Amino acid sequence: MGKEKLAFSRDNRSTMLERMAGEPLDLLVIGGGITGCGIALDATLRGLRVGLIEMQDFAAGTSSRSTKLIHGGLRYLKQGEIGLVREVGRERAILYRNAPHVVIPEPMLLPLVEGGTYGRLATSFGLWLYDRLAGVEKSERRVMLNKEETLAREPLLKKDGLKGSGLYVEYRTDDARLTLEVIKSAVEQGALAVNYAEATEFIYDQGKLIGVAVTDRVEQREYTIYAAKIVNATGPWVDQLRRKDNSLKGKRLHLTKGVHIVVDQSRFPLRQAVYFDVPDGRMVFAIPRDGKTYIGTTDTDYQGDLAHPPVDEEDITYLLEAANAMFPTIGLTRDDVESHWAGLRPLIHEDGKSPSELSRKDEIFRSESGLITIAGGKLTGFRKMAERVVDLVVRELEQETGRTFLPCQTATQVLSGGQVGGPEGWPGFVQKHVQELAALNVEKEQAEKLVHRYGSNIRHIIGYLKRMGVQEPEVVVLDPAEGKQHIDPVLKAELCYCVQHEMAVYAEDYLIRRTGAAYFDKDTYVALYPVVNELLNPPSLSC
Ligand SMILES: Cc1cc2nc3c(=O)[nH]c(=O)nc-3n(C[C@H](O)[C@H](O)[C@H](O)COP(=O)(O)OP(=O)(O)OC[C@H]3O[C@@H](n4cnc5c(N)ncnc54)[C@H](O)[C@@H]3O)c2cc1C
Repeated sequence: MGKEKLAFSRDNRSTMLERMAGEPLDLLVIGGGITGCGIALDATLRGLRVGLIEMQDFAAGTSSRSTKLIHGGLRYLKQGEIGLVREVGRERAILYRNAPHVVIPEPMLLPLVEGGTYGRLATSFGLWLYDRLAGVEKSERRVMLNKEETLAREPLLKKDGLKGSGLYVEYRTDDARLTLEVIKSAVEQGALAVNYAEATEFIYDQGKLIGVAVTDRVEQREYTIYAAKIVNATGPWVDQLRRKDNSLKGKRLHLTKGVHIVVDQSRFPLRQAVYFDVPDGRMVFAIPRDGKTYIGTTDTDYQGDLAHPPVDEEDITYLLEAANAMFPTIGLTRDDVESHWAGLRPLIHEDGKSPSELSRKDEIFRSESGLITIAGGKLTGFRKMAERVVDLVVRELEQETGRTFLPCQTATQVLSGGQVGGPEGWPGFVQKHVQELAALNVEKEQAEKLVHRYGSNIRHIIGYLKRMGVQEPEVVVLDPAEGKQHIDPVLKAELCYCVQHEMAVYAEDYLIRRTGAAYFDKDTYVALYPVVNELLNPPSLSC
């Protein structure tokens, strides 16, 4: 791209936007969820000059509000979508290899109950078929358990009517962090990407889409960005942009809302993730994570505010009742719910189908003006979705300009933070860096969390800590009486990293999407919010 690569720092937001506006791009991606970030990475690796704009923070849409699983696609088997099972199974294996710090195998128990969705034979065969189609490693293939073995693995399950279970492996992720690792990888390769930058209008020349008017919501500045190709990867918002482009015809989005709730492990001491039947015929996950258990999801039609889908009391009641029915001794109540989130599935409408029946397949629409829209899909399939979109973009660019580009490179592209020696090297990597952090007075539990959160980018956190010359851990105190704040060095190192290498702008960016504290560590969230807000808004953090 000729110019020096810019760090993915909050301080470079204006420079990045100026560079996007300064010279036409090959590709402008609108939307910084997993779909848009995946497209930006793929296209950059093929040699395109790429820009991406996101009107909120990266992953602030659906991509931080999912069940956080990299699925092998078991539910698609039930819907007969064999090709999809194959594809997501392969994708899962690729992602595990390229980002083992953020994609973690999670054994999942599928209880078989009288009158439940699956019988023993059907489950056994279904999981067997799924293992083959999805190319599951031998060590992770399904095991059928009898009632006693099932209860030994998860004693909280309802004993009445339990016939046994199937045990298979899902992969757990942190959806927002995965999205960040993808966009960081794209920027490391030369892409320009800015959060809080909204596409407000399209610009045309003789009916052909040639650019976008953009508002920087932080600096309140306007830009015009021209690009040979423009991709609409705005998830739940794709129809809004299609409407602006006068191309909202034919297939449309069908939004469904999914809610999750989080309770403390002391109230729901689940040993093992479970995918279980709910009386209305749906299935729900309960998953242990970071000392909490999260339960979800609901699936209901939605038509309200896209940026802030509400969690309604009836959503919470539904999930509490589901958990209490399958785990009858826990007796969860509304007071046990520490946090929750709601996300919108940007699915493609099919007449007469209920929310749960709608396909999770993705589709690409190309309007007469040239706007390319990608709709539908899953977190798990983002790499393949990106490949399909960029194949189209490259085909058109090659025809129009005579230039040539590389084929898709992402199958072997290790993601930012993933330079840990592959899944085999990961445990040793964690151990080595926990020891290094111990020498800087970081306690084991916190050190493990940090290494898991940042993967190989932990070297930056260690670098900040060393530069601060940490001897004794300080306590976080917000002390308005004295007018000064003592900030925990680890918090400071993390904030510096997130601001200078992950473009965090506001306290929420750090506490919701970069650390997940808002959902999985509510006490820390409440305690830290004023401190972090003070440091970031307006920026006073010195790194
Ligand atoms: C409850 C729930 C559970 C799920 N669980 C799983 C799961 O376990 N595994 C899985 O694989 N998938 C799961 N999914 C699906 C998955 O989360 C989504 O398919 C995926 O996150 C969609 O990503 P996206 O990038 O297309 O959309 P989004 O993440 O919503 O990104 C679109 C972005 O576009 C931005 N935008 C909109 N308009 C503009 C504009 N004018 N200018 C600039 N930016 C704009 C938005 O701010 C938003 O950030 C789940 C979904 C839900 C709702």
